[in-house]
Amino acid sequence: MHVQWDWPVSALRGVGDKRAAHLAKIGIRTVGDLLTHCPLRYEDRRTTQALGELVDGQTACVEVQVCGPGKIVRRGRRRIVTVPATDGTQTVTLVWFNQPYRATQFPRGSRLLVTGRSQLRGRSPSIVVSEVERLDNNEHLSARRLTAVYPLTAGLSQRLVRGLVSQALERIERIPPGVVPATTLKRRGLMTFEQAVRMLHLPASLHDAQQARRRLAYEELYLLQACLARYRSSIKSSADGIRIPAGRAAKELAGVLPFTLTAAQERVIAGILDYLASAEPAYCLVHGDVGSGKTVVAAAALLATARAGHQAAIMVPTELLAEQHHERLSRMLQPLGVRVALLTGGLPRAAAAEVKRDLQAGCINVVVGTHALLQSNVTFADLALVIVDEQHRFGVRQRAALCSKGRQPHVIVMSATPIPRTLALTAYGDFDILVLDELPPGRKPVYTKLLLPCDRRRAYDFIIRRVQEGQQGYIVCPLIKQAASQYLVAAESYYHHLAQQELPDLRLGLVHGAMAADRRRQVVAQFRRGEVDVLVATSVLEVGVDVPSATVMMVENAERFGLAQLHQLRGRVARSRRQAYCLLVSGSDNPQVIDRLQVLVRCNDGFEIAREDLRRRGPGEITGVRQHGLPNLRIADLLADTRTLAQARRDAFAAVAEDPALQLPQHAALRRALQRYSLQQWAL
Ligand code: ADP
Ligand code: MG
Repeated sequence: MHVQWDWPVSALRGVGDKRAAHLAKIGIRTVGDLLTHCPLRYEDRRTTQALGELVDGQTACVEVQVCGPGKIVRRGRRRIVTVPATDGTQTVTLVWFNQPYRATQFPRGSRLLVTGRSQLRGRSPSIVVSEVERLDNNEHLSARRLTAVYPLTAGLSQRLVRGLVSQALERIERIPPGVVPATTLKRRGLMTFEQAVRMLHLPASLHDAQQARRRLAYEELYLLQACLARYRSSIKSSADGIRIPAGRAAKELAGVLPFTLTAAQERVIAGILDYLASAEPAYCLVHGDVGSGKTVVAAAALLATARAGHQAAIMVPTELLAEQHHERLSRMLQPLGVRVALLTGGLPRAAAAEVKRDLQAGCINVVVGTHALLQSNVTFADLALVIVDEQHRFGVRQRAALCSKGRQPHVIVMSATPIPRTLALTAYGDFDILVLDELPPGRKPVYTKLLLPCDRRRAYDFIIRRVQEGQQGYIVCPLIKQAASQYLVAAESYYHHLAQQELPDLRLGLVHGAMAADRRRQVVAQFRRGEVDVLVATSVLEVGVDVPSATVMMVENAERFGLAQLHQLRGRVARSRRQAYCLLVSGSDNPQVIDRLQVLVRCNDGFEIAREDLRRRGPGEITGVRQHGLPNLRIADLLADTRTLAQARRDAFAAVAEDPALQLPQHAALRRALQRYSLQQWAL
């Protein structure tokens, strides 16, 4: 009987509830999922070896005939099955551990294709069998070819999955044609979806296998990018957006800044002002390494909006950052007559009520705030621009909630978690991406060193010397209160330890996420004024704090932080022309951990660090991207498939541009697929 592509895998013989549950664990729910389950690699069983060619300890593939009865011997707890076999010139003993049924499975004379590790050192040569196929009945699914090796999970075997794949290929009534129009395939030199599915599992060569996988990756990325393109075109076309003329905003702002803009800032500001001037709502991502000066870019957009007589809101993830942005933006914009207000959860009730009233009345031009901006009683007279800073800390829903307080406002999101371009095109594929690829002049790489806990004294002395030279520092710990594990340094107790024993002559301050807003504000203000030498903190510091005379950071239990996070953290000390230092303390003796931390020692480029992070941890794990809801790609590999992604993106965006409603017959399959694959599935 036939099966269909979208039927549950349990439609296949041999799949009951239990196996279906195992398969679901690796993302296989339907027959189609199974048929697009991508092999990890292929084993070459096209050529077999003669027994005389075996090499001790290596994997061999031989064709042999059983030449005697199987035996079971006990050795300790293990039961070992041995079966004698020959290739006509020599004999070999086939060995299995703890599979007693093997002793009687193969009658004398059976022809077998055996893969396993050869052992030539004992009395007679043997092969410890990892896989066996019978060649003299119909069982030889994978015999004598490139054999797929699939990613598995507990409860599944290669043999089982191979069997199911082959059953599905045999019984499938029709493999769907895929969503990519035939003309596009032809232009790109890609095979059909059906060919790719068949070839993936039974390739004639490794080259074929690669082509098949690439074709399926293209399909997956094309669908994703088409989804983004549609989402974007729906925003853009629904628009009678608010035109915000650039006016003299860039010039005016430059006039009040104590420094000159970098070329990158000028370029990105010009780009953004262009988007704001269009009737289509802007949808931009400003992407730049920590310290590249994104705040000024935001300021230019805020100023243009205020000058055009509209309101703007900038949302940030922490109160600390909101307060600081408020202060910095006020300093820039207040002299130009722009009224900047702050709205956070920590604000006294009366003050918050006043801000809300003024926002509604339209007499505040720019509001800087945290999640507090999302409250339903926050309303605007005329919200025309929404900026989300440190975008990776927010969900798409929150951004949408803020946007809904205006009528088609322009949207700018800023992210300092530098993610590789491929990831950006996927996670932010519906945005125009503007890159700040230049740091303000004179910035030197942060000198970073990895220290053992026993080197702490040297680190303290180093910090003391910096303070004596008039600089400041941070000491970062992973947790607030003493944790169960004594190895973790906790900010609160560590602070007391430092104050009493290690750094008694320095003025220390403590900030962490769980302390009262007032108290925290006070400490940060003292630090900013130079009345505190060293700030002991949890990772609340990761975003925001901008104190240029801080030049040294010590991070305790560095192994507890992600690479991108550590890079963000050390960005706190690279805020001036002075040499900055980052001392990472870790007592870990895990070579992988050390190797990971060494990336920071060696490298100062956020994009490269993000790539390393991605390579080590997989895309879902990268800080922030998970919250952003990066779609779960089953086939495409965002690090390896850069070119395929670029092509799929170009093609999908072109298709949507040409036919926004996807009404042309060649887009029918795409339209149907997108109805099921809604953006909500991953982004909203
Ligand atoms: P980001 O948000 O991209 O991490 P910020 O906007 O906080 O960076 O800027 C980092 C620091 O660099 C701030 O102290 C800011 O005043 C300063 N800065 C920004 N642009 C310039 C520039 N063009 N020249 C000198 N300093 C700059
Ligand atoms: Mg910033």
